[in-house]
Amino acid sequence: MDPFADTLRRLREAFGSGRTRPAEFRAEQLKGLGRFLRDNKQLLQEALLQDLHKSVFEAELSELIICQNEVDLALKNLHTWMKDEPVAKSLLVKLDSVFVRKEPLGLVLIIAPWNYPVYLTLVPLVGALAAGNCVVLKPSELSKGTEKVLAKVLPQYLDQSCFAVVLGGPQETRQLLEHKFDYVFFTGNPRVGRIVMAAAAKHLTPVTLELGGKNPCYVDDDCDPQTVANRVAWFRYFNSGQTCVAPDYVLCSPDTQERLLPALQRAITRFYGEDPRSSPSLGRIISEKHFRRLRGLLGCGRVVIGGQSDESDRYIAPTVLVDVQETEPVMQEEIFGPILPIVNVRSLDEAIDFINRREKPLALYAFSNSNQVVTQMLDRTSSGIFGGNQGFVHLILPSLPLGGVGNSGMGRYRGKFSFDTFSHHRASLLSPSGLEKLNELYYPPYTASRQQL
Ligand code: NAD
Repeated sequence: MDPFADTLRRLREAFGSGRTRPAEFRAEQLKGLGRFLRDNKQLLQEALLQDLHKSVFEAELSELIICQNEVDLALKNLHTWMKDEPVAKSLLVKLDSVFVRKEPLGLVLIIAPWNYPVYLTLVPLVGALAAGNCVVLKPSELSKGTEKVLAKVLPQYLDQSCFAVVLGGPQETRQLLEHKFDYVFFTGNPRVGRIVMAAAAKHLTPVTLELGGKNPCYVDDDCDPQTVANRVAWFRYFNSGQTCVAPDYVLCSPDTQERLLPALQRAITRFYGEDPRSSPSLGRIISEKHFRRLRGLLGCGRVVIGGQSDESDRYIAPTVLVDVQETEPVMQEEIFGPILPIVNVRSLDEAIDFINRREKPLALYAFSNSNQVVTQMLDRTSSGIFGGNQGFVHLILPSLPLGGVGNSGMGRYRGKFSFDTFSHHRASLLSPSGLEKLNELYYPPYTASRQQL
């Protein structure tokens, strides 16, 4: 018995009927999504508190406001984004109308992770709805509070013949992926990304893969250590480190490390107090499995700040490690928790070599008072996104695309990038039905005089 067959058939029929195509229908769905966010703000905040001990401030800044802004942006620009885009013409098509039409892809699947369980399900959804698709949403089974709100409440705000939330973990997701979709948008880790892409390949279904990795953070000798420590600590320990674009490790000289450590300690105490465990501003680890994985990483290198943990509460203190070896697990896997290893390098060149020897990260950060150092890092490396003296690039602007490169993923979204991701860009040329004389230039026989073209 296939639990998804009926739902998918219903959505396919709805798409086939053409009802998702008009701008008015798309706008209605987007308005519904906006209402869902406004009406259920408190419910979502409570769910995020339950799932990740996320404070209201972090929930607003990194989830709810971003979703609301995406809805507003899509509504404001929907007609412009949907317009046919005229392209440059050559003499041969002077009398024709030549343009790119953005048409919906059909039935799309969005698979989301748990770390920003509202943002990472609803921001892609905005793009998919704006582009006129029918959508199946698969939230993460680990963020249970949010999953419940998305499954029970969200459908009430959208046209249920064109939209469905399906539930389940790895097994159900694999079963779902046996079906043919017209697009799969996946956010998660690179191992699962490979499973998703292999399943999609069976149907030749295109994918966006928003994956993770180890994000380097280079700190130059020429810097103000306290400013750097504040910015790095804030973003490393935000959401208890469970952020795909958080700095994963610091690269700096031994001298800079000595200046940075007291500054990091001051930043952590200022943000979370003497006892971070009692701070309402610090999140918790999503599951016991992830907690145990992270506790294992605390054994790498030498703990110089933090290091405490408590399984009953899935609490891990904001931690800094030094004397870390490249071969240790903390430098082999994406940390995805409140642990920050520092690795020593002697120069900018050595840092760049270190980064370029590894998989391309999702994010890369460089901190320096020298613009030249920051620019060199930007020019000589590759990553999905880049931050010079700043760590929360992706949060601010929907005009900047979010997406990885190489092992950190493929494709991009936010704002108009989302609309384009979920649209087929159809090359269209409309010729007048007459003027046959012009077309005769192309027809055989290709006599000798015609070979001169
Ligand atoms: P995950 O890959 O374990 O899970 C993501 C989704 O895939 C979930 O809905 C889950 O149910 C499903 N899934 C899990 N295992 C599966 C399997 N074997 N077969 C089929 N489906 C499966 O990821 P996660 O732990 O939820 O999230 C953490 C990862 O996501 C990190 O690597 C992080 O960097 C990455 N991430 C990336 C971005 C980005 O924007 N690039 C954003 C957030 C998280």
